[in-house]
Amino acid sequence: MRVDVLTIFPSIFDSPLRESLLGKAIDAGTLDVRVHDVRDHTTDRHRQVDDESYGGGPGMVMKPEPIFRAFESLGDGPKRLLVMSPAGRRLDQELVRELSKEPWLVLIAGRYEGIDERVVEGLGAEEVSIGDYVLSGGELPVLVVLEAVTRLVPGVIGREESHERDSFGADGLLDHPHYTRPAEFRGMRVPDVLLSGDHAAVERWRREAAVEKTRRNRPDLLER
Ligand code: SAM
Repeated sequence: MRVDVLTIFPSIFDSPLRESLLGKAIDAGTLDVRVHDVRDHTTDRHRQVDDESYGGGPGMVMKPEPIFRAFESLGDGPKRLLVMSPAGRRLDQELVRELSKEPWLVLIAGRYEGIDERVVEGLGAEEVSIGDYVLSGGELPVLVVLEAVTRLVPGVIGREESHERDSFGADGLLDHPHYTRPAEFRGMRVPDVLLSGDHAAVERWRREAAVEKTRRNRPDLLER
C-alpha cells in the first residue's frame, strides 16, 4: 500500500514511521509512506500556507493552492483522499477495514482553524475525525489512521500479533481480558480455567469475559 501524507510539520512523522510495526512494514516494502511538506508547494517568498478567514474571526485558515499543488504533484492513479477534521466522519473499525483494501491513500493534516473548504470540494476529499475532541493539528490523527489501517494490510502483522480476535472483530465484541506470568501477582490470581489446559473451557471463558467487558465498558455495542 502506498500512503502520501501532506503536512506542514513533516518531522512529527520521523520517529513513529521508524518504530515498531510501521517501521518494519516500511523496511519490508509492504508499506510505502511518503511525507510531503506543504510549504514546499508554496510560490511566495515567505512560503505562506495560511491566511485570514473570510468573514472575519480569530484564527487562520490553510490556503488551498499549496495543498492542490502538493496533491497534483503525486502523479496519476486512483487515490483515496482523506482530510483530517474533527467535523468529519468518525473513524471506526469498519472504515479502517475498508481503507485497508485501498492501494493508495492520501492523508492531509490540517492546522490552525482548518483547511479551506475548496480542498474537500475540488479534490473530492473525505473528512475523517478520530473522535469527538479537538486537537491542534491533524498529524496525530494521520498517524492514528495509518497505524489502524496498516495493521490490516496483509503481511504487516504476523500470526503472533493476529488482529482477527481483536476488539470490534467479526463478533462485534470487545476483546477478552489477557493475562501472562506470574500466575499470582500481589494477591491477584489468574482465573484457574486459563491454567487448566482445557481449550474448550478456555474458549467459553473468553467469550463470556468478552461479553461481560463489552456490557461494562460499551453497552452500546451489545445493543447493535
Ligand atoms: N476549527 C476546527 C473545528 O472546530 O472543527 C478545528 C481545527 S483543529 C484546531 C486543527 C486541525 O487539527 C484540523 O484541521 C484537523 O486536521 C486536526 N484535528 C483536530 N482534531 C481532530 C480530530 N478529532 N480528528 C481529526 N483531525 C483533527
